[in-house]
Amino acid sequence: MPILQMTMNGNWELRRKAREKLQSGNLPTAAAGTWAGAGSGAACALCELPIPHNDVEYEIEVNAAAGVQVFKFHMRCHYVWSIESRHR
Ligand SMILES: [Zn+2]
Repeated sequence: MPILQMTMNGNWELRRKAREKLQSGNLPTAAAGTWAGAGSGAACALCELPIPHNDVEYEIEVNAAAGVQVFKFHMRCHYVWSIESRHR
């Protein structure tokens, strides 16, 4: 299913979560780098569900004061994050 269609079909819950996490500082507003690869089974930074090995995993790197931080997302969650972080 195309990403846009999935979003239009009601990822309001995900978007609300993204805004909350952006506001509370649990998600960064910009990435220093982005990679896509096979799922590692790690928890998604947005929806908190594991990213299965047969799924695409998006990884973003953020330069924080404490060093480089890595956030992992499902493809759909990365898309939602990229939209919501741009709105800020
Ligand atoms: Zn997710």
